[in-house]
Amino acid sequence: MRIAVVGLGAVGAAALYHLAKQGIEAVGYEQFEVGHTRGSSHGASRIYRLTYADPTYTQMMKEALPLWQTLQAEAGEELIVPCGVLWIGAEDDAELNAIRATLQQAGVSYEWLTPEAVHAQFPAFRLQPSERALFQAEGGFLRADACVRACVRLAQRYGAQVHAPMRLQGWRSESNGIVLEFESGHAERFDGVVLTLGGWLPKWVSEVAPQLRVTRQVYAYFPIRGEPSHFMPERHPVWIEATAHFYGFPHEGVQPGVKIAQHKPGEPHDPDMVARAPDERDLAPLQQAVARRFPDLGTEALSAHACLYTSTPDERFVIQPLAGEPRIWYASACSGHGFKFAILNGKRVAEGVISAARS
Ligand SMILES: Cc1cc2nc3c(=O)[nH]c(=O)nc-3n(C[C@H](O)[C@H](O)[C@H](O)COP(=O)(O)OP(=O)(O)OC[C@H]3O[C@@H](n4cnc5c(N)ncnc54)[C@H](O)[C@@H]3O)c2cc1C
Repeated sequence: MRIAVVGLGAVGAAALYHLAKQGIEAVGYEQFEVGHTRGSSHGASRIYRLTYADPTYTQMMKEALPLWQTLQAEAGEELIVPCGVLWIGAEDDAELNAIRATLQQAGVSYEWLTPEAVHAQFPAFRLQPSERALFQAEGGFLRADACVRACVRLAQRYGAQVHAPMRLQGWRSESNGIVLEFESGHAERFDGVVLTLGGWLPKWVSEVAPQLRVTRQVYAYFPIRGEPSHFMPERHPVWIEATAHFYGFPHEGVQPGVKIAQHKPGEPHDPDMVARAPDERDLAPLQQAVARRFPDLGTEALSAHACLYTSTPDERFVIQPLAGEPRIWYASACSGHGFKFAILNGKRVAEGVISAARS
């Protein structure tokens, strides 16, 4: 059985890894180079967490984490940094309360901290007297670039072929397979095809396009001015402000400073026309969050980067066969929180296409 995976961001790379590991003849295609910076999966870090208001995702994370751990062991490098997750908000914040209820139901332990307790445990942070924090130890961050590269490298070790750069230009369904056609003139037949095209998926799959919104997101690194050890993963968890959804990371040892961003999808964008260079309007809210929360960080960004979200209205993921062509499966598994589940969603889309190609 021959299966193609088109689009090697986090989800496609994971699908290719699972296919190849199961002994399937798998071929991966990527329009740019593996690890490029024009999609959704690049950068040094992505949060993983059990702390969701919706128990579906807490359960999914419980399933995804062992898969990341297996990948890490096979890759022989650190992919997971388990520094814990700190949620900060007003004591009566509805989202915080919903997360606490979900964790209690799921039997997941957490600490509920006063501002003084946060400062004693994690000295870089400042909370308002009226704020509280939820600390959950079984979260942290994934080394995103390394995860994608590890999936591709291991897939190749299991026998997958990878073609990058090679851009899909079209496909035709035939009785004995799907023929993929590429811009280079190359064409190849497969028993099944996975489309993991991130922000480019709406251009290719019209049936799902009305549900998907592609937006530009900015994150920036800010300089550490105080005691460096206060910003290391041992003393600094990843953090999220409930409701406002500013979030950030400890120093991850790749880029200078610490990364801070806001989860707030903006205006729709064409993925091929996105302004890559962030400007003052992008940075101002992040600088305000830094000033409010971290007295020992400078507010002048050291570097800033743009990235794509592809979001559904309810932030759920779409993983399904193409209407009328069940041998093609596609996944839109972003909505700004999909990296942590990429290893699981890649497996799900791989299993879907394998069973369709067999039947
Ligand atoms: C700033 C930012 C912060 C985030 N933070 C978090 C976080 O903390 N935690 C978390 O869990 N998630 C987070 N996410 C979400 C997560 O990163 C995404 O869910 C995930 O990376 C989506 O991966 P993907 O494979 O669907 O898309 P992509 O990485 O965009 O991959 C799609 C690939 O398809 C390729 N492609 C497109 N068209 C073609 C073609 N015609 N031919 C060949 N190849 C093609 C593209 O070049 C691209 O490489 C964040 C996202 C962003 C942008």
